[in-house]
Amino acid sequence: MGTAHFGLIGLGVMGENLVLNAERNGFSSVVYNRTYAKTEAFLQGRGAGKDIVGARTLEEFVATLERPRRILMMVKAGQPVDDTIASISPLLEEGDLLIDGGNSLYTDTERRVAELESKSFGYIGMGVSGGAKGALEGPSMMPGGTRTAYDAIESLVRKMAAQVDDGPCVTYIGPGGAGHFVKTVHNGIEYGIEQILAEAYDLMKRVGGMDGDAMADVLAHWNTTEELASFLVEITEVCLRTKDPAGGGDLVEVIVDAAGQKGTGLWTVVSALEMGVPVPTIYAALNARVLSSLRPERLAAEAVIAAPPAGGAMDLGDPAAGLPPLMDACIAACIVSYGQGMALLQEASRLHDYALDFAAIGQIWKGGCIIRARLLQRIQNAYTADPALPNLMLDPWFAEQINRRLPGLRRIVAGAAMAGIPVPCLSSTLDYIDSYRSGRLPQNLVQAMRDCFGSHTYERLDQPGAFHTEWIS
Ligand code: NAP
Repeated sequence: MGTAHFGLIGLGVMGENLVLNAERNGFSSVVYNRTYAKTEAFLQGRGAGKDIVGARTLEEFVATLERPRRILMMVKAGQPVDDTIASISPLLEEGDLLIDGGNSLYTDTERRVAELESKSFGYIGMGVSGGAKGALEGPSMMPGGTRTAYDAIESLVRKMAAQVDDGPCVTYIGPGGAGHFVKTVHNGIEYGIEQILAEAYDLMKRVGGMDGDAMADVLAHWNTTEELASFLVEITEVCLRTKDPAGGGDLVEVIVDAAGQKGTGLWTVVSALEMGVPVPTIYAALNARVLSSLRPERLAAEAVIAAPPAGGAMDLGDPAAGLPPLMDACIAACIVSYGQGMALLQEASRLHDYALDFAAIGQIWKGGCIIRARLLQRIQNAYTADPALPNLMLDPWFAEQINRRLPGLRRIVAGAAMAGIPVPCLSSTLDYIDSYRSGRLPQNLVQAMRDCFGSHTYERLDQPGAFHTEWIS
């Protein structure tokens, strides 16, 4: 019988930092990596002098662990997770626990939870956010699976997680794939905020003629506000201030303008479409990445499709005051990004019986993760006051914010349209807000057309029932 408290499989960037985190918190550990050379390098490097041993084989790994075994897999999502489960499960005993801490598709996790639990093992699908630094110092963790399986890892993850005023940034999320679904949506929100900040940068550069340092000063100002203070604003300031070691200019200006998208951002949007939840700000961020990757086509189109004539310059406002209309636009869009993500979580919770606690999700995102922001306290407050809040914008504090920020958002979107500068997240946000606040939308005409060509019938405002009209005589 082994004595190590904790086992880690997969010494990638995340795994390496997470095991150091566990060890620092008093959990003696054993590590296994498919390629043993990586284990050796780790034990001689960052793992040296720590209460961490390496295993050459899974048999040795399993034998080194105390029972019930607590094993975290940090391998590439997809087939590698299934391969790892297939290799290790014949070696496990009843009550042992496998945790998948990678970015797995939540439906894969649902399947794995059912399979592993039928063999009397515990299985936890746990989203982990915070990148390498967060993994080491304290990430935000989103574990899902059966409650009893979570109870067996609670003491471990509560110590490893980031700590904020009201506790550690980890909580039991819900059954099945709930943890990985919440992590997926976390990443969708992250896509939205990153694109919002990229659009702000584009406007500051192209309309405001600002250089990296001037833009970084604006971001520094934003980071002092309750509404925008966040990790992503903080690192955007750093990125804009950083100089190119090769040339001395702003480093960001020599980076290829093509961003990839895969996994979680895509899954957020696909799930939203499947569940019938509008997430246009997040979708716009995903599309912006897809379109950016068509760089050769964009370069060709630049020579063919005309830009609008110069003139009618837009006014971004006073940089010393943080460019107020642009700041308002970004605040509204960030609120909406979180709001769309929370609305998607609400529908997923209803469809899958996840019984998600939205205030608790706000709480565990306050520290450690990539979308941590001061605003999350307000989100936590909103769902504490009304756990069934249908949309964040309906909470009184957020409604007041949206009303206050809307004129700036309108000004920025209109100005960008006239200047021919794409602002897909900001403009989608404006359309989303204007649609959401409209008691009457033009879908009555869509219904009329559908009945006209396909006899789909329509409902009337003044009478119950389904109606059909012979529109074409
Ligand atoms: P990674 O590059 O995604 O994965 C590296 C690990 O996976 C290595 O240990 C590798 O072993 C192992 N692996 C790959 N294919 C395998 C297979 N078929 N069978 C067994 N092991 C296999 O590392 P990472 O960036 O640390 O990410 C780990 C997980 O966390 C991923 O799901 C990732 O999406 C997620 N995540 C990453 C971050 C981040 O900031 N990087 C943040 C949150 C979540 P070898 O050394 O033998 O190749």
